[in-house]
Amino acid sequence: MFPVNFQKRSKMLSNTKSASGGNKINIIFAGEGGQGILTITKIFTSAAFKSGLDVAYIPSFGVEQRGTPLVAFITLDNSPLRYPKFDVADYVVVLQSRAVEAVSQFISPNTKVIFDSSTINFALLPKTSIQLFGIPATSIATSKYNPRSFNLIILGYLSKVFNLKPDLVFSEVMLLLGKKFKSKEAEAENKEAFYAGYEMVPERDNFSKAVFKPRQGAILVKGHGKSGEILPSRCKGCGICIAKCPVAALSFGEELGVLATPVPKVDLERCIACGNCRNFCPDAAISIDKI
Ligand code: SF4
Ligand code: SF4
Repeated sequence: MFPVNFQKRSKMLSNTKSASGGNKINIIFAGEGGQGILTITKIFTSAAFKSGLDVAYIPSFGVEQRGTPLVAFITLDNSPLRYPKFDVADYVVVLQSRAVEAVSQFISPNTKVIFDSSTINFALLPKTSIQLFGIPATSIATSKYNPRSFNLIILGYLSKVFNLKPDLVFSEVMLLLGKKFKSKEAEAENKEAFYAGYEMVPERDNFSKAVFKPRQGAILVKGHGKSGEILPSRCKGCGICIAKCPVAALSFGEELGVLATPVPKVDLERCIACGNCRNFCPDAAISIDKI
């Protein structure tokens, strides 16, 4: 939890009109447990606080576990913030279809709804949400960077929307996540994803197709003398199996695993059943054998 600061001032919000009037901006972040929503919310609020804004950050979740909706309430103000509770959000940032219901009641026609258009079909959003901003973050992260960087793409975009200096925000990313970047290359890749989000122009219509879908149950595959099993309930989308496959038979598919990141799919024609994917997967989420 970040403290509410009653001292610092900033003109940062002066260009941003609140739906509720005045300079107070009410924001909701929503996604699933395991997606890193609380992490990017902490980074965002910390950067806003260090930029001189008054900040309130109230995470809210029921059963704290992966795959359940998770919501965080944020209020920013450039004058003393006295009462952070709100009924209508100025901005809703929603990253998984299973979290839409949890935020619907806070959306008015004036609410700007920023959503991952590659995982959420815009038709699922409440009818009151008429100001839509689609960012196909999961699709871009998976095809250009790494699946788990989708939330950095969103964070980069939000930095632009709220006039936060990107270098300051990324220094907060490094403070909280730096140790998780296992190499300089990984750090550079995630930084690139963040700045790509910063430069992104959102979709206002003609939204991307929401091709990435949460998957329940095992994925069973069979053919070309092999059979295999991939368990989305265990797969964290780390990509180790893809990197270790000697014949490039694995790639990320469109089914989402336990962290709402894509799980691998296998091309059984290419696969030589070497066992590398099973042996290297840290979560025992994949196995392919000869039959
Ligand atoms: S068994 Fe070997 S060849 Fe087949 S997908 Fe796994 S790593 Fe690739
Ligand atoms: S199957 Fe295992 S190694 Fe492959 S992406 Fe999922 S968790 Fe990582």
